[in-house]
Amino acid sequence: MVTRFAPSPTGRLHVGHGWSALLAMDLARARGGSFRLRIEDIDGTRSRPEHVAGIIEDLRWLGIAWDGDIVFQSARLDHYQSALERLKAMGLLYPCFCTRADIAASATAPHGPEGPVYPGTCRGLNDAHRASRIAAGHPHAWRIDMARAVARAGPLQWHALPFPPNDDVATAVPAGPLAAGDVVLARKDAPASYHLSCTLDDAAMGVTHILRGEDLRPATDIHRLIQALLDLPSPLYVHHPLLVGPDGRRLAKRDGSIGLADLRAEGMDPQRLADDLRHARFPIGISLGSA
Ligand code: GLU
Repeated sequence: MVTRFAPSPTGRLHVGHGWSALLAMDLARARGGSFRLRIEDIDGTRSRPEHVAGIIEDLRWLGIAWDGDIVFQSARLDHYQSALERLKAMGLLYPCFCTRADIAASATAPHGPEGPVYPGTCRGLNDAHRASRIAAGHPHAWRIDMARAVARAGPLQWHALPFPPNDDVATAVPAGPLAAGDVVLARKDAPASYHLSCTLDDAAMGVTHILRGEDLRPATDIHRLIQALLDLPSPLYVHHPLLVGPDGRRLAKRDGSIGLADLRAEGMDPQRLADDLRHARFPIGISLGSA
């Protein structure tokens, strides 16, 4: 068994992240498996190097120990690029020149599980038009033609274990990536989006069990599709409920001292905190949201 924790260095970790990392580590340890750490640091606009150091410090403080070297996505750009080339050669990607404002202005399409569904403006551009805009240096992302990709892959399922994870038989869940529309696989500022890099890395790291928050359930549908298109193995998935603050909303820094670094500064004993989290006892005001 191989599990992992894969934070994005866009800020320090809060109690919910610590809980998720502990669950993933314990799951592997209970079965003699390994637990890996991956830093998802390719979001050029939001990732900060100082948060990488902070995250590592937060995890160590809480007693999280990972196996092997930390994987940094910023060191794996070549792998993402070759997967993109494969998908392009399969005719499943198209360049998208839209700005956020263009999309907001034309978004009459419904909201999907991943936010507004891209209205498909650039899907129908002809090849000559695309080539000339790329040659002229117009910034572009690469989107997947979801309908075409789904038609190519055929019906897909992913396999879920219940939360808390136990030895139950996995349940097959039909994957429905169509609802998310033509999501971005390569951003304007990075050769991969979260969906592509995460799926490729989990396969490259031999991850067998992905434990992550409920909020990423729709992403799992997309990741399953990418696995099928690129002949990657599909791990088992455990989606855990999210922690909510006193206002019933998802945990975020606005709730006050819930950052691991804040708790540390307040003199909290990390072993005690880890023990509490393992028993789903959360700091005051924080509770398990309904899944
Ligand atoms: N980097 C993602 C995040 O921090 C997590 C990805 C994952 O667990 O798949 O939300």
